Amino acid sequence: MHTQWESLANEHILGIAPYEPGKPIEELERELGITDAIKLASNENPLGPSDRVQKALAAALTTLNRYPDGSGFYLRQALAKKHGVGSDQVILGNGSNELIELLVRTFLKPGDEAVVPHPSFVVYPMIVQAAGGIRVMVMLKDYRLDLDAMARAVTPLTKMVFIANPNNPTATIVTADEVETFMSRVPDRTIVVFDEAYIEFAMGPDFPDTLSYVKQGRKVIVLRTFSKANSLAGLRVGYAAADADATALMNRIRQPFNVNSLGQIAALAALDDEAHVLECVRMIEAGRHFLYDEFKTLRLKYVPSRANFILVDVGRSAAEIYQKLLHEGVIVRPMTAFGMESTLRITVGTPAENRRLIKGLRTALGKKGP
Ligand SMILES: *Cc1c(COP(=O)(O)O)cnc(C)c1O
Repeated sequence: MHTQWESLANEHILGIAPYEPGKPIEELERELGITDAIKLASNENPLGPSDRVQKALAAALTTLNRYPDGSGFYLRQALAKKHGVGSDQVILGNGSNELIELLVRTFLKPGDEAVVPHPSFVVYPMIVQAAGGIRVMVMLKDYRLDLDAMARAVTPLTKMVFIANPNNPTATIVTADEVETFMSRVPDRTIVVFDEAYIEFAMGPDFPDTLSYVKQGRKVIVLRTFSKANSLAGLRVGYAAADADATALMNRIRQPFNVNSLGQIAALAALDDEAHVLECVRMIEAGRHFLYDEFKTLRLKYVPSRANFILVDVGRSAAEIYQKLLHEGVIVRPMTAFGMESTLRITVGTPAENRRLIKGLRTALGKKGP
């Protein structure tokens, strides 16, 4: 039975499971009677924005009576320069999440297919479904995107393919060679979307240069964000690089003030602050190795990570360990919804947060301290 409101709704959205956001950390602390909880659940940067960004933001507060620059002129110009593309090839979004929605609404018609890896970012299938598209889910292989199977899943109806690189929640990458082979198999009528939210943590000679496909005029859209390595998740700034004809179409349905002025100012300042990104990347890399060693000591299997989070198999109910960790004041993400009953996704934190996590994990697993 549909409620009256449901019978009025766009039928495409009725099959979508409602998103259940986590509680605010303060509310959780109040309920559990704990203090100083740490959040290692959303792959955020544990370091706040840099001094330079904070100063730029403070200076901008007095002009908040004005609407933002609807074209994002300076930020797009700076991003274009950084990446060696035209500023008409860059489009800004209210987080890269908005750009996923914009590109689906721009290009996907009801009945079109979208090839989506699984498990991966749940936003892709959700938005495809809302647009009346057909989700063609392709299982990962050994925790990695199976580009061979994804290429085989492309049919004459396939409008787009989503490639999260690194993938969330597994933190694995597909390599430059694998992407090159994939690109040689994908027909020109199919748009390939590379979501590179965690690229700063993944860099290495094996990582693909997907912007080169944009520059070659391939049907490729590259998504990036200021939410992770740049510590700006709360301000919601992401961008896409693509052919100027593609961004022009997406701009037709973009809300003119989708990226607020503080977001634009902070992102511009953050772009000039490579030292902050480098500091974060180094800290996360050291944190990964610390956690690998601790997981080995605890005899827990994990998936080696190229991002700022790690998938770890706790060898028993992940939901139960998640609850126990909550009582230790450590918030992580159980992978139960993905059918991985004994797996947690844990964001790498500061050194102190990582030690706290391990201490909590020992308690939750009923292991004696070191
Ligand atoms: C965190 C994340 C993003 C970033 O989203 P924003 O809207 O830019 O904050 C994009 N894609 C994936 C796969 C992510 O995990």
